[in-house]
Amino acid sequence: MLNTQSATIYSLAEPMHGGRFTSVLSVGSRKFGHECSVCGFRESERVYPLRIRWTVEEWGPGSDVIPDFNWPRAHQILLVSQLVRDYLQERVTGIRFGAVEMVDDPTLHRPKRITKRTKKRVWLPYEGPPLHEIIVDKVVHLDIERSGRTFTLCPGCGRKQFKVRHDAQDIVPRSEWTGEDFFRIDENGGADGPVFVTQHARDLLKAGRFTNLSIRKCGAIVP
Ligand SMILES: [Zn+2]
Repeated sequence: MLNTQSATIYSLAEPMHGGRFTSVLSVGSRKFGHECSVCGFRESERVYPLRIRWTVEEWGPGSDVIPDFNWPRAHQILLVSQLVRDYLQERVTGIRFGAVEMVDDPTLHRPKRITKRTKKRVWLPYEGPPLHEIIVDKVVHLDIERSGRTFTLCPGCGRKQFKVRHDAQDIVPRSEWTGEDFFRIDENGGADGPVFVTQHARDLLKAGRFTNLSIRKCGAIVP
């Protein structure tokens, strides 16, 4: 990308209608600190390694199909298969990989016989593909005005509370960005928000045809 050109950016999320895949939750992935008595915001920090627990669908047949992209804490945490790691590792910047631990439910045992009535789920000991967290460290700031944001300051903690115009785009000044293909945006939740990618990463991810990943155009890096 030349300094004088603008470049489209995209956000990564779980598709709206996943359905056929198993689901997973993170366990204690954030350590919470002080809570602001005015706005209710609680400071928090990530706890590593990522710990996850497989969940079972309450209604319906359940699923034991593990997709390439798993979403244990909404859009915040990228949990991916070995396939995704091998594919991205040498080809994009701004990511590193973190270990994943699975928390066992002590009351849960793989049934000796699986019948038609046994609800499908992922059992431990785990026999699926190796999983990794994609850790994204880079956080950029938006151009607030061009991104259609206004904010007020919380009188309790001084934190900016953003309002977003409905047609707003995420506009990142070129000076904020140091070439990473994966990054987060401070005004969109920072480390607690979604992951954003460049055109290069988006094209690679698209070509990889990974399951359970939705990529949405959301703005640009501009000169
Ligand atoms: Zn506050």
